[in-house]
Amino acid sequence: MKEHFCSVEKAWIAYEDKCNWCDESEGRMSEIKVGDVVQVSPDYEMFGACMVVVTEVKDWGIQGYVQSAGVEGQQYIRLKFGEIEATGGRAVWAVGGAE
Ligand SMILES: [Zn+2]
Repeated sequence: MKEHFCSVEKAWIAYEDKCNWCDESEGRMSEIKVGDVVQVSPDYEMFGACMVVVTEVKDWGIQGYVQSAGVEGQQYIRLKFGEIEATGGRAVWAVGGAE
């Protein structure tokens, strides 16, 4: 079983293989790679709805960063797969590197 904040149902949904509401599948999440842009669930504290550039893919989720205008460096965050959605986008310049 996997749990995610469903963008269609606007609630936490537990599912097996595939979410009945939005068609999110576990397989799709496993395709996330370093350099991909993912979006944080809107209800997530502080980073809600932020775009995150993935710097590491783990068993449980990802590590990545948020880039803010006028702020030196990057804000790193660790997120479980249930807290993010793939956007299909890629960062052209994945800056920062290791934490
Ligand atoms: Zn869903």
